[in-house]
Formats: sequence, C-alpha cells, structure tokens
Amino acid sequence: MTRMGPTACVIGWPVGHSRSPLIHRYWLEKYGLDGDYVATQVPPDRIDAFLAGFAASGFIGANVTIPHKEAAFRAAAKASPVATALQVANTLWLADGAIHADNTDCHGFLANLDERAPGWDSGGAAIVFGAGGAARAVIHALISRRFDPVIVLNRTLARAEALASHFGPPIVAAPLTDAAQFVPDANLFVNTTSAGMADAPPLTIDWHGAPGDAIATDIVYTPLQTAFLREAADHGLKTVDGLGMLLHQAAPGFERWFGVRPVVDEALRQRILADITGRGA
Ligand code: NAP
Repeated sequence: MTRMGPTACVIGWPVGHSRSPLIHRYWLEKYGLDGDYVATQVPPDRIDAFLAGFAASGFIGANVTIPHKEAAFRAAAKASPVATALQVANTLWLADGAIHADNTDCHGFLANLDERAPGWDSGGAAIVFGAGGAARAVIHALISRRFDPVIVLNRTLARAEALASHFGPPIVAAPLTDAAQFVPDANLFVNTTSAGMADAPPLTIDWHGAPGDAIATDIVYTPLQTAFLREAADHGLKTVDGLGMLLHQAAPGFERWFGVRPVVDEALRQRILADITGRGA
C-alpha cells in the first residue's frame, strides 16, 4: 500500500470497528497536514514480532487497542509515568529508533469531564462499575483528582480486589450486587463495564437514594445514550457520555506524530456521531 506522507496507525485485533482513523484524518485535513492514519490488524500471536519490527515498519507511531495494550507497554524502551503506573500503553511513538509509550485514556477521561461537567471533581466518594482494563485508567484518573474512597464494584469480585491491591487505599472492592448500599454516599458514578454496549445487556443500577447533584458518566459510547445514563438522568443526575473520552485520548498522540496539538471540536464530535449512528457499534 502507498502511504501518503508520515503515517501512523491503530493496532488491534479486530480493528475494523475503530474510529481512530476517522478522528486523525479529520485533524490532518483540518490542519492541512501531509500524512495519513490507517488501521492495522495484528493477531495476538504476531504482536510481539510486529512491535519488535515497528521501528523499521515505516510508521511514525501508533495507537494500540484491545487486546494489545499490555504488549505495547512491554515493547517500549521508555514509558510515561501514567503508562508505567498502569502497565498498559495505548500510544506509541519513535525516538532515536526506540519505542516510547504513553497511556492517554486517563487524560481522555479527565478532559471529557472537565469539558462537559466543569467542577465535577469536588471529591468525596466515587463508584466505578467494572474492573477491566479501562477501569484501571479511570481509577488512576480519579485518584489524581483526590476522590476518596473509590469504590470498585465488579461482577467478578476477584478482579476488583486485584485493583484494590494494585492501587492500595483509597480503593474499596465489593461485588456488583452490593451496589445499592454504596449509591447514596457517592458523588460520581462511572460505568467502565462493557455492559450497555449495543450488542450487550444493559448495566442496571438501583439509583434509589443517589444524591441529586451527583454525576454519572459512561465510557461506553456505542450507543451514545446507554441505559445506565438514561436511568441516572431519570433519577435527576447530571450525565456525561463517553464519546469525548475517545476524542480527547487521541489528541496527545496526534501532537506527537504530526506536531500540532489538535482541538476536539463539535464538528469532529458530529462526524464520529454520524458514523456511530450509521454503523452501529
Ligand atoms: P474488559 O477489560 O474486557 O472489562 C470488561 C468489564 O465489564 C469487566 O469488569 C466485566 O466484568 C464487565 N462486564 C462485562 N459484561 C458484564 C455484564 N453483563 N454485567 C456486569 N459486568 C460486565 O474491557 P475494557 O477494556 O475495560 O473496556 C470496557 C468498556 O469500555 C468497553 O465497552 C470499551 O469499548 C469501553 N472503553 C471506552 C473508552 C473511551 O474512550 N470512551 C476507552 C476504553 C474503553 P467481569 O470482570 O466480571 O467479567
């Protein structure tokens, strides 16, 4: 394939669902830059070899998505403090022929809430539903804004407990079935489970007693309005969807590769929304 100027990619398996090419091509066009961004599908048994040859691949950098974020971190000669704390990377670039890595999911999560719900980080208790890879980034972000406690509720308790031992206090681990006892005391509710995605059953919470000034945010963005957000809104909570997290997490990589810090604007949001609506999940 002929590449048009400096080219970055998103690496995943599968990767056809990724909106990253749409996001980065929007910015390349907007800022009139020479370059391209493509999706590259790499199977799990090829990822280590792919990353070992990355410096000679012709790509200037990459985003990394499921299931390769751990492999991307391991392949890096140098990692940012956030990627090191999480042991996973989603953004790679080359410096002196070596892979450097960052994890921008924390930034994306925080920037989305900073933009859509200014003052959201007044502290107190936060509840995180889910204990997968994305929960790890969200917990790190919440600790950085001094939420205490951060209650991690997961269907599989052992995974929540593993996060509690990784991060230490202020994490409290409990089973998802205990949610009702924590809901009245929390200021922030974050769904990081994949429940609620277009092809998955919804995450249903008993919102009884939730503080009226609390905020609920879902990092799932297909669909944009999940049942989790709709039901939280029905109980009077302010809600923030997960699309902004996806858009903001992309910005630091674009700046590294193409030299311009891009702005997450409404036209970009509308372009990705149109794709989500037209294509579904
Ligand atoms: P993951 O590592 O596979 O974790 C999935 C989590 O969802 C686990 O905690 C799992 O619980 C829970 N879960 C799955 N089905 C459930 C159900 N029916 N009921 C209750 N809990 C259920 O996935 P991930 O990487 O953390 O990603 C999670 C979601 O975040 C995905 O939808 C992903 O697209 C989204 N995401 C969005 C952004 C963004 O930029 N907006 C960024 C990253 C991820 P168990 O441990 O019990 O299996």
